[in-house]
Amino acid sequence: MRFASLGSGSKGNCSVVASDSISIMVDCGFSYKDVIARMKRLDLDPDALTGIIVTHEHSDHVSGVEALSNRHAIPVYASRGTWIEIGADNYKFSNYISGLFTIGDIDITPIPVPHDAREPLQFVFGSAGKRLGILSDAGSLSGRILNAFTELDALSIEFNHDISLLQRGPYPSYLKTRISGDYGHLNNDQAARLIETTVSDRLCTVVACHISEINNEVALIEKALESVLKNRDIQYLVASQSDGFDWISVERR
Ligand SMILES: [Zn+2]
Ligand SMILES: [Zn+2]
Repeated sequence: MRFASLGSGSKGNCSVVASDSISIMVDCGFSYKDVIARMKRLDLDPDALTGIIVTHEHSDHVSGVEALSNRHAIPVYASRGTWIEIGADNYKFSNYISGLFTIGDIDITPIPVPHDAREPLQFVFGSAGKRLGILSDAGSLSGRILNAFTELDALSIEFNHDISLLQRGPYPSYLKTRISGDYGHLNNDQAARLIETTVSDRLCTVVACHISEINNEVALIEKALESVLKNRDIQYLVASQSDGFDWISVERR
């Protein structure tokens, strides 16, 4: 299994998880034209996508989903609540998620998360004994999240904001309250705490994603990561809004 991002942040999110035989997109928060251009960078053919999984209906996750699905006959997978919010009844190809499911040789575990959408999910992917967790939007660390994101070989996790930069920053107070609330976005300390709580000897790679360009800084994210990954042989990187990150192989120690 391997994974990559076509871009990550409040202006658009899109990841891809692939095995030797299939490729699955997770969210598509870029316009059709933009996502096609971004896919070229990763040498990805839209006609080769086996499915698009949608985490929730916020526009930074769904703006390109319908066009990509309809133009390339790619099935869309979403919770019933997300399905209703994105109008998936109008899509030609859609399935709703009601529990653990499988696409090709990848098993997908949906995890309900606290976030201000109708029925948001995040996911753990398993294939050939390897496990990858993707957690892009959550306001707090529920027991469900902490139980599900364990025994991972690779993890992509939201490091949305630094709490003091958010509080001192230019956002209006209602937005600060929303982002820092239990149904908003994970701050650097919360993300680090998730890693600290769930880390096992298996974990090889951590990617920090969904980073606020206004309310965070790479140096602060790296400091938070280093504080919990110290003395462990774990590689980490910080995803960017413009380029996401290139393919990373999910390896098992
Ligand atoms: Zn969201
Ligand atoms: Zn988001």
